Amino acid sequence: MFLDAETGKRSCGPGDPYDAFMFRKDLIPWLLNNPMSVAQIAKAVGETPQQIATDLEHLFRSLKHTEYRPIIEPATCRDCGFEFSDTKVTKPSKCPKCRSRWISEPRIGLQQRK
Ligand SMILES: [Zn+2]
Repeated sequence: MFLDAETGKRSCGPGDPYDAFMFRKDLIPWLLNNPMSVAQIAKAVGETPQQIATDLEHLFRSLKHTEYRPIIEPATCRDCGFEFSDTKVTKPSKCPKCRSRWISEPRIGLQQRK
């Protein structure tokens, strides 16, 4: 089960801003030193990838004053090796260089600041 490591309960419901905030905080232990793609997270929690991408963006912003920082392993084109921006958490649809659609998903993790 996702989220609360101790109770195993999911601590939020969809559509509630307060719960959404809690949900984001709960992502921290999950992603700490354990990078996952948005699709993997979405599947694990039963949300849409779009919702997860939005949650992650908010989470990153709220991490600014914490001991954690986001690490994004950028998407890469598997045909030509082109590396996409490491600020995007979602998979680009195609490569700007060779137009291939064979693209690895970016993976998102968190690290504790030294
Ligand atoms: Zn390419």
